[in-house]
Order: sequence, then structure tokens, then C-alpha cells
Amino acid sequence: MTNRIFNFSAGPCTLPLPALEKAQHEFLDYQCSGMSIIEQSHRGKQYDEIHNTAIANLKFLLDIPDDFSVLMLHGGATQNFVMIPMNFAKEGKSLDYVLTGSWSKKAAAEGKRYNGYKAIWSNEEKPKSCMPVASEIVPSENAAYVHICSNETIGGIELQEFPDCGDIPVIIDMSSHIMSRPLPFDKIDMIYAGAQKNLGPAGMGIVIIRNSLIAQANTDISNFMSYKTHADSNSLYNTPPVFAIYMMNNVLEWVKANGGVLGMQKLATQRSAFLYDAVDASDGWYSCPVEKSCRSKMNVVWRLPTEELEKKFISEAAAAGFSGLKGHRSVGGCRASMYNAMPVEGAEKLAQFMIDFKNNN
Ligand SMILES: *Cc1c(COP(=O)(O)O)cnc(C)c1O
Repeated sequence: MTNRIFNFSAGPCTLPLPALEKAQHEFLDYQCSGMSIIEQSHRGKQYDEIHNTAIANLKFLLDIPDDFSVLMLHGGATQNFVMIPMNFAKEGKSLDYVLTGSWSKKAAAEGKRYNGYKAIWSNEEKPKSCMPVASEIVPSENAAYVHICSNETIGGIELQEFPDCGDIPVIIDMSSHIMSRPLPFDKIDMIYAGAQKNLGPAGMGIVIIRNSLIAQANTDISNFMSYKTHADSNSLYNTPPVFAIYMMNNVLEWVKANGGVLGMQKLATQRSAFLYDAVDASDGWYSCPVEKSCRSKMNVVWRLPTEELEKKFISEAAAAGFSGLKGHRSVGGCRASMYNAMPVEGAEKLAQFMIDFKNNN
């Protein structure tokens, strides 16, 4: 048995032990084939089954309607920052972006290359970091799409309710909280996510896209960057990220065995409550720079009274077996990323560590 610590890294992140153990167990000889799964043809029978099971598991767990396609693509979430305007920008149409933090801005930077770019909402002038409420997300009348990042991994804020934008396509970066709560597909036209937060290892992006949106996409673009290409070939246009897909499927099997999305939601609520309670009960010694109603259940951020104490906290926590608590280099402070595979016990023990650290300092 290995010595596994509590890994609060923002990504790549902790994965369920049974998913890792399954991979370890069958890595050298996948189901009596005499080969590892990563040595086999991606057109072969054994890989084919993994590929299609992974898609079926995503559809089952997220309750994805039949008129959506599920794609598994190289390039993580970031490639989609590029593909979205490339596929959907149209002459005379506005490309609407909601700016809520680092990741939405990175997505917007690719939209800005096109004439129609427009920021329709920003939290920059707000006193505390926050998300818009659903009714504040009002797309332009001629919008080609509205882009939202529903969980800002660095800022620690999470969209609580998805907007209903009628006929305007709603495209959402859910990298850091996909599979942690049920999704209203009637209000959503496309979701994408890098796999390495809640789904598996890095190197892959998941796209869940309404077929009618694919049908509207530009056709005068590179084949490889076209969503239609990948949808038409069931994500086998080129060699897919085989190992990432195999690992993701192991993770999805674990999610299935642990209560599905509702089970994950319950765990996320329990874990984050331990940490926010520790912050709220500290009389301001710990402070959360986030509007209370927008607190993320996945990425909890907090500050200490001084940067010196923050350094001490992070180093003592690491020595006590809590890894990855340093806030993002762009904002400082502390951050605990608690994705699906983080045991509730990890959050409970970290909360106790916070209480003890405050009392000793
Ligand atoms: C991590 C992250 C990304 C980037 O994912 P890659 O797979 O590295 O491209 C994009 N958006 C959000 C919200 C993230 O948390």
C-alpha cells in the first residue's frame, strides 16, 4: 500500500484510488490481450469498447439528451477557446463573453481576434469576486453565442443558476466542476471541460454539444478544428487520447458506483461546508475574498492576516500531509481544490488543521 496524501491541487488533481488501482492492475496485459491498452490499435475491438463505454457513461451520468453529441478531443479545455469562435463566429454577429476571472478572460482572448467580440458582463468593478445571477446574463440580440465559465478555478466562484437565453446558444466552460451537480440541458447548448479536474488525467477535453449547433458551424475552417469533423467520426478522426479516455472511464465507473452526480454533489457540499465553516467561525482571521452567494464548492479560497502567516500555514499544512494549498500565483492566498475524488475526511481534517493553526498563531 502506498502512502497517499490529501492532494488539494487545482489540476491535475487527485483521482479515485479504485480507478488508479484498476489501471495499475491491468496496465501490462489488458484483459488477456497480452498487451497494454496503450499499445493497441484505436480501431481494435478492445479499445472500441472502452471508447464507446466512456461516451455512454458520460451520457448516463450527466443525463445528456439524445440531440447532443459527446466528443473526446485532444487539446484540453484550451483548444476549445480557439475552436469556439472559429466554428461559430459569423459576419455581423456578436460574440458575447461573460468575464468572471482568469479562465473566462483566457477564453475571451481568443474571441477578441474576431470583429464581433463583446464583453457583456464583468465582475471587475465589484467589491468582492462574484458571478452574475442568471437574470444579469443578457446576450446581445444578434449574438452568435454567449460564453460563460461556470466555475472560476482560480477565483473560487461558481455560477449558481444557468441563464435561459432563448435561441442564443449558451456555451459553458465547466472544466473545474463538471460532474459535481446535475445540469439543465434545456438552457445549455454546449459544455466543454478539460478532463484533468473532475474526470481523469490531463490532455483531453470533453465537449457536449447540441447537434443543431454543430449544424450551424462554419464549414470553411480547418477540418481538425471543426466540431463537425469530430462529431461525424465519433471522436476517431485521428488517434484519440487513448490512455486519458481509458482512465476517464475508470473514473466514471467509480462515480457510478458512488451515487452518480447526485452522490458527487452531496460530497462536494459536505467538503466545502467544512472549510467555509472554519473560515466563517474564525472572526475574520481567515477571510474569503468571494461573495458568499457565489462560493465554489470545488475550489475554496481564503486569506490569512498576513502573507507571512500564509506561507507558514502552507508549509506546515504540507508537512501535515495536506498538499497543494498555495493559491494561484496570480492571486496569492490559499486555495483548496476539492474535486470529486477528495474524501470528505480530507476536508474535515484540513478544517481541523485550520482551527488548530489559528489557535497556535
Ligand atoms: C484548468 C482549466 C482550463 C484549462 O484546461 P486545459 O485542459 O489545461 O486546457 C480551462 N478552464 C477552466 C475553468 C479550468 O479550470
